[in-house]
Amino acid sequence: MSADTHVFPTYAHPDVEFVRGEGVRMFDSEGNAYLDLTSGIAVNALGHAHPELIAALTEQAGKLWHTANLFSIKGQEKVSEILCANSFADRVFFTNSGAEALECAIKTARRYHYANGRPGRVDILTFQGAFHGRTLATIAAGGQEKYLEGFGPRAPGFISLPFGDHDALHAAINEETAAILVEPIQGEGGIREVPGQCLRGLRELCDKHGILLIYDEVQTGIGRTGKLFAHEWAGENGEAAPDIMALAKGLGGGFPVGACLAREEVAAAMTTGSHGTTFGGNPLAMAVAAKVLEIVTAEGFLETVREQAIALKQLLAEVADRYPDLIEDVRGRGLLMGLKGKIPNTDIIAALRGEKLLAIGAGDNVVRFAPALIVTRDDLREARDKMMAALGSLSAPAQKTA
Ligand SMILES: *Cc1c(COP(=O)(O)O)cnc(C)c1O
Repeated sequence: MSADTHVFPTYAHPDVEFVRGEGVRMFDSEGNAYLDLTSGIAVNALGHAHPELIAALTEQAGKLWHTANLFSIKGQEKVSEILCANSFADRVFFTNSGAEALECAIKTARRYHYANGRPGRVDILTFQGAFHGRTLATIAAGGQEKYLEGFGPRAPGFISLPFGDHDALHAAINEETAAILVEPIQGEGGIREVPGQCLRGLRELCDKHGILLIYDEVQTGIGRTGKLFAHEWAGENGEAAPDIMALAKGLGGGFPVGACLAREEVAAAMTTGSHGTTFGGNPLAMAVAAKVLEIVTAEGFLETVREQAIALKQLLAEVADRYPDLIEDVRGRGLLMGLKGKIPNTDIIAALRGEKLLAIGAGDNVVRFAPALIVTRDDLREARDKMMAALGSLSAPAQKTA
């Protein structure tokens, strides 16, 4: 079996290769333009080749790339200041990825109880359908068999509960519980939103039992839902604020960077030497993240995102109405939306790609759309036409003339 590639066979790539991107478009090696509603899985928050991000990155590239955390990195002060000024948090630890941000969140939760004389509180309660990354701890946290299979003993200390089952949650809390870990909207799990009242309920439950609330906003953060963080929809005044939160994806606009945010009292347990990373928060990542945050938190930016989000939701509803034989429902919030298919989501995604529109799959047979936050009304009109054409090609003939 001599492979024509030396890359691990972990990814099943479609045979299209992109060589360039601009805004919400990507171009293949033959010059064909595709409308990109994947944003590299909600990563390119400001689209491809954003001029201000290019400038921020290249300016820093000419100065200093890397020192490791042996020395203080000024960009970390700047990025953490913006994140804390705009959230519940007082402290930030920088990582290179979402999974590492979750690792830090999990360690911080356990260490907080340890530092406060409750070393037995180690269990993290999670929910079925969750996705928290692919490290050994985060596949245990996610609890999905397909990601655990064949990778040896499952890391202990994670208890996966049925999604939306309040009784099971209450029953699971005991003297060994350290924290509840939840995505405000499950991304990989199929764009399943936790209702605002449930997030507020989780906050109350955690306060009552002296346990920590951890949000995984790796996919939903940085303006994706029309607020800087998705949990803000559940209360503008911190009614649903967590104690710890993991970020990544959109934070670097395409440059790999993640972050674990925490309240002062919680972060205090992560004493000097207790945790670390070589690459995390390096000057290149910080230069780009600072610019992303500056743009996303600028006056009026998120308001525009919310307007485009309404347009996206309307167009998906239109598509679902037109093809009830193919689409079961429309779900999601902001610019993180999904169409649940009645036929395999992979068939719908392939048909969309045929019309040069890029979408991603998600669990629960969902076709996921996560356009860059700079998507325009014209882009969305184009998306609508492509979706109608793609679904028209899949729909039963009777449906087309209906
Ligand atoms: C993508 C994702 C992760 C993992 O991030 P990586 O950068 O791939 O490690 C964790 N949680 C959620 C909700 C995600 O969407």
